[in-house]
Amino acid sequence: MISLSKAGPDGNDGSLIDMDLVVRAGEGWAVAISTLVNAELTRHDWAALSCMCGHSAEHLPVMFETLLTPELPRSALGYSLHGHVEYGTVIGECTLPAVSVMLAALVGEVAARARTEFLQALASVAAGSGYDNEAPSRNEYRDRIQEGFWAVVHSGLTGSADDADMAADICEILTLGDEKSAYYQALLRNRARAMRKR
Ligand SMILES: [Zn+2]
Repeated sequence: MISLSKAGPDGNDGSLIDMDLVVRAGEGWAVAISTLVNAELTRHDWAALSCMCGHSAEHLPVMFETLLTPELPRSALGYSLHGHVEYGTVIGECTLPAVSVMLAALVGEVAARARTEFLQALASVAAGSGYDNEAPSRNEYRDRIQEGFWAVVHSGLTGSADDADMAADICEILTLGDEKSAYYQALLRNRARAMRKR
């Protein structure tokens, strides 16, 4: 397990996120982290990467753990990966490892809040057009998301109407242009429509 005692960087100005809040949020809650997600979190040296909030990305594992907690602590409601792993369509150094963690999580069952948050972030990254000088090329991001095609489709077929639409958006943005992608895009759009009619 990632140690929850590893707080965010000292001197956080709290403009984007309250580090104390994130660390406290992880205490006393049943954190549902799969072995795969835990392995993926451990694989990356987060402290060596820069986060888009301007700090080291060392605090990202705690953010993922909190989002993956089935009952998201009330104190953590409203915070998101936006501004950390992506900023609209702008992506940064920690984005690629974050994409791997999100896809690893979406392979299995995840808390509804995490599923929606991850699909939103993946859609932004897929559409990403701006990145810093250190970041790999845009295609590398798309290739990485494409590796998680089944995880994205699975999430869209098991989540909310919005989740289904976002999963379809991701498939569309990847412009795979094959029959499989077109088939699942249609299936996801139909699911979103059917769920909204209920
Ligand atoms: Zn950050």
